[in-house]
Amino acid sequence: MFDLDAIEIFQHGYIDPSEIIFREEIQDICRGNACRAYGKTWACPPAIGGIEECRSRVNNYKNALVFFCKYELEDSYDYEGMVEAGEEFRRTCDKLWEKLEGHKNGFLLLANGGCQRCEKCTYPDSPCRMPEKLFPAFEGHGIVVAEVAKLAGINYINGKDTVTYLGMLLF
Ligand code: SF4
Repeated sequence: MFDLDAIEIFQHGYIDPSEIIFREEIQDICRGNACRAYGKTWACPPAIGGIEECRSRVNNYKNALVFFCKYELEDSYDYEGMVEAGEEFRRTCDKLWEKLEGHKNGFLLLANGGCQRCEKCTYPDSPCRMPEKLFPAFEGHGIVVAEVAKLAGINYINGKDTVTYLGMLLF
């Protein structure tokens, strides 16, 4: 449907957002601060709202492009490699967003992890500095990445010593 040439996407598929299950227990993991991003940016809970608000945000759209990128690691303990891969994935999300002129065209892009654009986020004291480039957290919405990958018919696990990051463009 979209021309994804020149964007390093490994696999993609299309789904109906109304099929996504939103799970309170995933937001419980956020509240437990498992990835240390809870309450740190405008892209994560509690800033993005509870399960019902997240469900309603996503269900405002009729279609979703689910896409992911796969990165090689030195081994399964390669934390540095995972961080670098996360940065590379965010650059890919930016390329997709720019190509589609996302904000102007009313898309919503959910991406892996919280927002790390600014050295220090303005949350919660003042508005986001770049709301036009704010990609709310995929899992922070209470969505299980593996379930969405399955709906889209794509593989979330892609072999030994690799890491996969997944995003969803709603339109
Ligand atoms: S763009 Fe900056 S201010 Fe906005 S959520 Fe990201 S880090 Fe925070």
